[in-house]
Amino acid sequence: MHETALAQGLIEVISQEAEKRHAKPIRAKISCGQLNIVNDEVLSFAFEAATQGTRCEGMKLQIEHKALQAECLACNQTFAVDLAGVRCPSCGAENFRLLPDAPLLLEEIEFEEGVDDGEG
Ligand SMILES: [Zn+2]
Repeated sequence: MHETALAQGLIEVISQEAEKRHAKPIRAKISCGQLNIVNDEVLSFAFEAATQGTRCEGMKLQIEHKALQAECLACNQTFAVDLAGVRCPSCGAENFRLLPDAPLLLEEIEFEEGVDDGEG
C-alpha cells in the first residue's frame, strides 16, 4: 500500500531528526499536491500504526493539500488553479500551462520542549 510505505518513510526521517535533537517528536506537518493522491485518513491510520513502538509513537500528523499551480501564458503570473473557473486572476487570460504538481514534502516537525518550568 502506497500510504503505508509513505508513513514508514516519514517516520524514518522524523526518527533521524529526533535522534539528532535528542527530543521527542510530537507533531509533523506534510504537504502534498492535488494529483499526488494521498488519502488523509488512510495515511493517518498507517502513520499511527507505523509509529507503534518507535520514538514517534503518539505524535500527530497534519496533512496539507496544496492547490495545483498554473502559469499564465499572457502575463507569466503564477496562480493557484481553481477548478470552478480557470483564468488568470491577474489579467483574466484563459491561456495557461499547468505547473508540476507539488511533491509530497515533510514541512516541519515539532518536538517536545525539553524544559518546562511552571505553567503557562
Ligand atoms: Zn495573466
